[in-house]
Amino acid sequence: MGDAPSAPVPVLMYHSIGGSDRLAVRPEAFAEQLAYLRDTGRTPITFGELAEGGRAPVRPVVITFDDGYADFHERALPLLDRFGFRATVFVTTGWIRDAGPYAAGRPLGRTLSWSQVAEIASCGIEVGGHGHSHAELDQLRDAVLRTELLRSRRLLEDRVGRAVTTMAYPYGYSSERVRRAVRAAGYDAACAVANALAADGADRLAVPRVTVRAGTSIAAFERALRGRGFLVDHALTKGYAVVRRSRYAVRRLRGTV
Ligand SMILES: [Zn+2]
Repeated sequence: MGDAPSAPVPVLMYHSIGGSDRLAVRPEAFAEQLAYLRDTGRTPITFGELAEGGRAPVRPVVITFDDGYADFHERALPLLDRFGFRATVFVTTGWIRDAGPYAAGRPLGRTLSWSQVAEIASCGIEVGGHGHSHAELDQLRDAVLRTELLRSRRLLEDRVGRAVTTMAYPYGYSSERVRRAVRAAGYDAACAVANALAADGADRLAVPRVTVRAGTSIAAFERALRGRGFLVDHALTKGYAVVRRSRYAVRRLRGTV
């Protein structure tokens, strides 16, 4: 990651701010976390800036949001703005509220509209991809995988008017085959979910993130920033990656993908 500082850079992963599922963080808790970042001298940069390398601030942190929920626009953006913080939103294009003929998959909550996505981008927030239908990318055959990645990037670029070079894997699932397809589809960097910190020189196509959930206390948040005390999510361990690879292979043999 270029000249990025050698200390691991925390990449935080949020979903909804104010929603009701187990990952949704309350706006008050989110505001407290932002204040904590400010008070400890952290400077948020976008995921794209982290991936590019170059000159980074002294204590960088990356704040990311997955899926593209409407409450990012309503709840998170005003708070980020109040702190003067940058962030990255990974949008699932088929889930956009007014996706029209491109609607795909089933969103878990109320999602952003296209005009909100454009407005967010104009506020200096980075917009990245998160698949078109939020499919488990490692379970798709090559042609479908390519469409999923390209359609998402092109739709976003049309609306935000600039290059979209980053993405996050839905559910955090990727494989070497998926990462090759991601690069071929024009993305330079991608976020995984490993509940670890992004070390200097980490694979740009599998940058680990730390999950912030509904139940994340400020003490746990502080530990997470230091790379300690992560909750281990069995679904994202190395062993489970092998299980998923085998599952894909079996489905290929059966001809179901
Ligand atoms: Zn997602």
